[in-house]
Amino acid sequence: MSLLELNDVSVHYGRIQALHGLTFTVEEGEVVSLIGANGAGKTTTMKTISGLLSPSSGNITFQGEDITKVKPHLRPGLGICQAPEGRGVFPGMTVRENLGMGAFGRKDKAGIDEDYDRVFELFPRLKERESQLGGTMSGGEQQMVAIARALMARPKLLLLDEPSMGLAPQYIRQIFKIIKEINAQGTTILLVEQNANQALSRSHRAFVLETGSITRAGTGRELKADPAIKEAYLGVA
Ligand code: ATP
Repeated sequence: MSLLELNDVSVHYGRIQALHGLTFTVEEGEVVSLIGANGAGKTTTMKTISGLLSPSSGNITFQGEDITKVKPHLRPGLGICQAPEGRGVFPGMTVRENLGMGAFGRKDKAGIDEDYDRVFELFPRLKERESQLGGTMSGGEQQMVAIARALMARPKLLLLDEPSMGLAPQYIRQIFKIIKEINAQGTTILLVEQNANQALSRSHRAFVLETGSITRAGTGRELKADPAIKEAYLGVA
């Protein structure tokens, strides 16, 4: 049984069809990336998995259960958490309070304290700045807050939408290193990335989305070596 399964999922915005019958799986323990050009449907796919958008047809299962109709606010409780594109850090809350929001609904205080320790170990910068207001953190730091907050829910599946967006090169390397570490600690990751080179290097498997359909699938290594992918997504003619 796959951790996540999309079966023939289509999504419409009004009359515009953004996803055309997507079928793919994410297995427990994997890092899987979705790559594709602007407008290909990557964010739409993530929002459909986190429940913010509903498929017009097809279904989604998580750990074998059909979750197609489960409301978005109930999905973190099942183990699906998204660190959103655009970050969504609460500006008037401290870093620590922002992280606490990720644990909303959990009652295991000891476990929550352990998770603060764990995320502060992954992100020492956030430990240094735990009383700073979220809105005054730099763009890269806010991205760290968003990922750390998602981890506070102890997700089985972490959805990361463009974690490297707008970041300086040293932050990009650091974010990918942290993604690897989070996965090594047992969290399955589905990643959307414009930075296809890094994403393919760090993923067990990847899918290429083109205008709402999957056109290629393979291991990160296979796709990285493919001449057509190199030309289209890796900036190598
Ligand atoms: P990017 O890399 O630019 O973020 P993406 O692959 O994430 O792109 P999506 O945001 O999923 O792409 O968009 C897929 C398609 O759906 C695009 O053609 C987009 O214009 C369209 N779309 C997205 N949101 C809406 C909306 N709210 N209403 C109408 N069309 C939308």
